[in-house]
Parts: sequence; structure tokens; C-alpha cells
Amino acid sequence: MSRIAYVNGRYVPHCRAAIHIEDRGYQFSDGVYEVCLFVGGRCLDLTPHLDRLSRSLAELRIAMPMSRAALTSVMHGLMRRNRIATGTIYVQVTRGVAPRDHAIPREPLRPATVMTARRFDIEAHRRRQETGIAVVTVPDPRWKRCDIKSVSLLGNVLARDAAAKAGAAEAWMVDEAGRVTEGASSTAWIVDQEGRLLTRSLGPEILPGITRAVILSLAAEQGIEIVELPFSAAQARAAREAFTASTTRFVMPVVKIDGEPVGDGRPGPLSRALIARHWAHVSAETGYVPPAISDFHSASSPLR
Ligand code: PMP
Repeated sequence: MSRIAYVNGRYVPHCRAAIHIEDRGYQFSDGVYEVCLFVGGRCLDLTPHLDRLSRSLAELRIAMPMSRAALTSVMHGLMRRNRIATGTIYVQVTRGVAPRDHAIPREPLRPATVMTARRFDIEAHRRRQETGIAVVTVPDPRWKRCDIKSVSLLGNVLARDAAAKAGAAEAWMVDEAGRVTEGASSTAWIVDQEGRLLTRSLGPEILPGITRAVILSLAAEQGIEIVELPFSAAQARAAREAFTASTTRFVMPVVKIDGEPVGDGRPGPLSRALIARHWAHVSAETGYVPPAISDFHSASSPLR
């Protein structure tokens, strides 16, 4: 079965889906995106994803291309047409087509909307959570509005490329003061030697992650001490535990930073407890119940 994409009001074969060469998204990265995860036909954390899309568009003064209900219905339509129940939907909205000129045209353009769907192997992902991943730290080369989910991802791309070349699955980017901002496509977390959960506070240096907000509320429910403050790369390397988090990675243990093991080099107890809590959240939101692996689902108490 051939893949189907959505482009400006039409469902089209993926291989023939196209955008005008003078679309400002292509010329200037003048646009935003979202990645949503569907599990068993239901979208995880849909409302916050739509809220963030609206906010990113508003920050760039691009109109919402259609109502939230219409957007949601296209997302479901695309999943159905691709016969995918568990997968990601990529939504991209760019300012539209205009003769190339840096200045934003006075007359609002018709935003261009593209969506694609892709299968997601949720079980393989779950197995990956058992072992964790390696990250490397790299200088953060990005602009000063990383809170906007813009399609301008060159800094993130180069950071991830550096990670891939070092045999790591993610790059944690570090600001000029030596503090971790976030991953190339995830938020960064550590558990310090006092057992406190640290992640950078929201601001223009990081994307307001949807999974970040979910984890913060799950951790608060668990009575975990949370510190929303930047931590240094050195603190990360000396941490008891570390993990990285996103819509498609959930809570993913980080077991190696810059080639050195974190803690004993295995996913730690607090990370495992949060993985379990997060799966419970996924189940509550989507109805999907994952088959049990080791003690993830009984891991309600290893916090202390
Ligand atoms: N930071 C960056 C730079 C990202 O690309 C992502 C992935 N969208 C995240 C953080 C995590 O955000 P979310 O939990 O909303 O997927």
C-alpha cells in the first residue's frame, strides 16, 4: 500500500506530494511543526500539542490554517488512509508562497499545511527503555528563540549528527555558561546525588516539551523533589541518573554521557519509576496497555 500525505487540503500519494519552491518555509524556514504520537488510533496529549502549535504560529504571526477540530480530523484521516494505528503524525505549517524577500509580506499569505504519517514500533521503543541510550554533550549553536517549534533545525541537525558520529543516540546541547539546554530533539533531565530531579526551567533557550510537562506532574504526584534549574554538563556527568524525554522517546534513560557511565551504567530507580508512571499515562490517554517487561509496571516504590 502506498503512503499518503496531506498537502493543502488534499490527500496525495507521498511520492508526489510537493510544495512550491517559493514557499517561505523552503526559502527561510518560515514555519513551524509538531510531531504527535498516535497509539492504537488515539493521539497522546493532543490538546497540549495543538496549544503549542497555536503558540508557535502566533509568535511568528502566521494564521492557524484551519480550526483545531479540522486539524484533528485531518490527522485521523491521514492515519486511517495510511492504515496506521500506532505512529507519528508530522504537521508542518509554513507562511506560504511569495516572491523571495526577507520582509514578511504585508498581505497575509495562505499558510501551507503538510502532514505525513509514519509507523512507530512502540514495543521496540519499550525494549530500548530497558537498556537506555548514550548521549554526548556539544556546544549549543542555536538562535535565541528555541521556545518556538520552528522548522529551522540546522543546529539540532548538526548536534544530532555529532552524536551519531560518536555512536550516541542523542546530543545534549550546552550553553556558553556550560549548562545543558536540551537534547537535539528531547528535554534533558538528571537525578543529582541528593536524589533531586533536575531539568532546565522554561525560557527562550528550550522548547516547552509536552512530555516535560507530563513528567513534571507525574513526578510531583510521586512526591519527588523537582528542581527546575539549569544544570551543568559536569553535573550531568556526575549525576546518579539521567534521562532524556520527548513525544517519541517517552522517558528514555541515559546510561552514558560523553563515553562515561551514569551511575552504575544502567537505568536508575527513579527513571524506572517515571517510565512506569508515564506508561500508565499513555494507557490512560489512549487505552493501550503494554505487555509487562521486567518490573516497569510494579515499579511504584523504588524511589528511595
Ligand atoms: N526539545 C526539542 C528541541 C525537540 O525537538 C523536542 C521534540 N519535539 C523536545 C524538546 C521534546 O518535546 P516533546 O516532549 O513535546 O516531544
